[in-house]
Amino acid sequence: MRTLLSEDELKAGVQKLAQEIDDHYGSRPLTVIAIMTGSLVLFADLIRSLSMPQRVGVVQASSYRGGTASGELHVDNAMMIDVRGRDVLLVDDIFDTGKTLDRVSSMMREHGAVSVKTAVLLHKLTEHRVEMRPDFVAFEIPDEFVVGYGLDYLDMYRNLPYLAVLSQTEVDATAAETAT
Ligand code: 5GP
Ligand code: MG
Repeated sequence: MRTLLSEDELKAGVQKLAQEIDDHYGSRPLTVIAIMTGSLVLFADLIRSLSMPQRVGVVQASSYRGGTASGELHVDNAMMIDVRGRDVLLVDDIFDTGKTLDRVSSMMREHGAVSVKTAVLLHKLTEHRVEMRPDFVAFEIPDEFVVGYGLDYLDMYRNLPYLAVLSQTEVDATAAETAT
């Protein structure tokens, strides 16, 4: 496994992200929504570094159905909190094709949010499939499959405190191990 961002680099990046969000919203109350499950670790660190009063909620979205390539997107808002009349900030681990944040942003507007912005740990430099771009980004990364700090492969590696690139050999080994 090759480390792409160390624990210290991630920490500094998240602090900078929080500062940009603080600068933008000031002391305005914010509804901050985690796109589960990938944003779990980032979310916990980020919300504790933001200064404004916050309402906190989660939405479940998944597009990587057990593989490393983007699949069909599923969004489950069963656990969503009321966003009507609120300023909403969506938090996700990574902006890849952009389909997830594009879809969930529209969903928030349909539910009556007055503003919707997005914050991500990682912005993958690939060909995006949508026009929208994330508003707050901690790191730009090349088009490689990464794990750690919340990001998984077959639900593993989310607990790594650093961000790593998984080699094809490791992908195969994890798949074989998970299948048994
Ligand atoms: P998008 O909808 O922007 O294509 O994809 C966003 C979702 O795909 C992310 O929330 C994340 O769960 C997953 N994803 C995209 N790229 C990667 C990656 O390099 N590693 C992992 N583990 N997940 C990724
Ligand atoms: Mg995700």
